[in-house]
Amino acid sequence: MPVVSPASAPPDAPAGPRPPGGPAGADLLLRADPEMAEIILGEAHRQAEGLQLIAAENFTSPAVLAALGSPLANKYAEGYPGARHHGGCELVDAAERVAVRRASALFGAEHANVQPHSGSSAVLAAYAALLRPGDTVLAMGLPYGGHLTHGAQVNFSGRWFDFVGYGVDPVSGLIDYDRVHALARAHRPKALVCGSISYPRHIDYAAFRAIADDVGAYLIADAAHPIGLVAGGAAPNPVPYADLVCATTHKVLRGPRGGMILCAEQYAARVDRAVFPFTQGGAQMHTIAAKAVGFGEAATPAFTAYAHQVVANARALAAALAAEGVRITTGGTDTHLITADPSPLGVDARAARGRLATAGLVLDTCALPEATGAAGRGVRLGTAAVTTQGMTETEMARIATLFVAALRADGEDAYGVRAEVRELVGHFPPYGRVR
Ligand SMILES: *Cc1c(COP(=O)(O)O)cnc(C)c1O
Repeated sequence: MPVVSPASAPPDAPAGPRPPGGPAGADLLLRADPEMAEIILGEAHRQAEGLQLIAAENFTSPAVLAALGSPLANKYAEGYPGARHHGGCELVDAAERVAVRRASALFGAEHANVQPHSGSSAVLAAYAALLRPGDTVLAMGLPYGGHLTHGAQVNFSGRWFDFVGYGVDPVSGLIDYDRVHALARAHRPKALVCGSISYPRHIDYAAFRAIADDVGAYLIADAAHPIGLVAGGAAPNPVPYADLVCATTHKVLRGPRGGMILCAEQYAARVDRAVFPFTQGGAQMHTIAAKAVGFGEAATPAFTAYAHQVVANARALAAALAAEGVRITTGGTDTHLITADPSPLGVDARAARGRLATAGLVLDTCALPEATGAAGRGVRLGTAAVTTQGMTETEMARIATLFVAALRADGEDAYGVRAEVRELVGHFPPYGRVR
């Protein structure tokens, strides 16, 4: 039976993360479905043998993976705890109540809806709760770091609503709150959206609240990226300012793939109806249980330390990259996220992503509004995953060195860098070593 490409790894490389259920789970999968087992274990190996710098990714805990792989996956549960359309929901009701209680406590929200299947589903439901098709919405423009759900023409948001985009200052790369205010006054939006896929700085939620109040708009915070930092006290909390807070549970927050909406009691019924039955069907109870496990982990002192280390690592990585000549947008970061222009090193963003991938550094390209280089694109890096692995500032300096070496590497040299990447990550196996 084919095993997971051990040939591609040096003999002393870690064997990769334990799949959910541990080695016994791997044996079971290998017996039941060798074709899929090879893919799944291969992916676990890929995650462990490279530097995972995609800003939206992380390594969930074995406890979160165990909840995801639990028999709660079998249960149908349309509706909400105590009011389901199916029998036998007593225990999944308990699971959802725990998830709601933990999310509300973690973020200081009066109400939490933990059913959205993803961050995008949360945003869809938030719009459904407050808006009607044709309403005007002011959000960060896509070329500046707005998400697809912030008015992209290929997304429901751009088709069903009239989006106006705000940008960032072309020199500083920072949100110009006066400019946002002027746009709000000119367009009178029904809702103002703050949040981005690539903005590396803290968002001034009080400033957005003041603008929203001035024009009588709702404020929706799409905190998909920073919500994990909020949980750990390493970023400002939008909950006291925004009418609705949309978030993912799988980015820095390190829970399972999914979304949620946080709000005050006055919006609870509208939000709940907008999620089910308006935009979704049955809740995914295994994911909701896993979200609860993730919220429980995020409420610990260890997670607070983690969130602060994520930011310290991003700052160290940004500074080390800048010292190598990479141009860092906004000159640094307040969060887990760095956007950078590699073109001063003679490589455009797309070529950079390819060379970095060959060397085992996995990251994204992103829009870079003030870049003069290739089609306004840069690279986006995040430190959530490598920090979960236990890396600190020392390793960030090493990553910056490897980053630049990979950019300069031509052909065979890339494999030399890749060997160094393997050596580095070999000391930080995301799920421990398989015995
Ligand atoms: C990641 C993200 C989303 C969407 O999350 P999915 O789970 O991929 O649907 C929405 N908004 C912002 C700002 C994001 O960063």
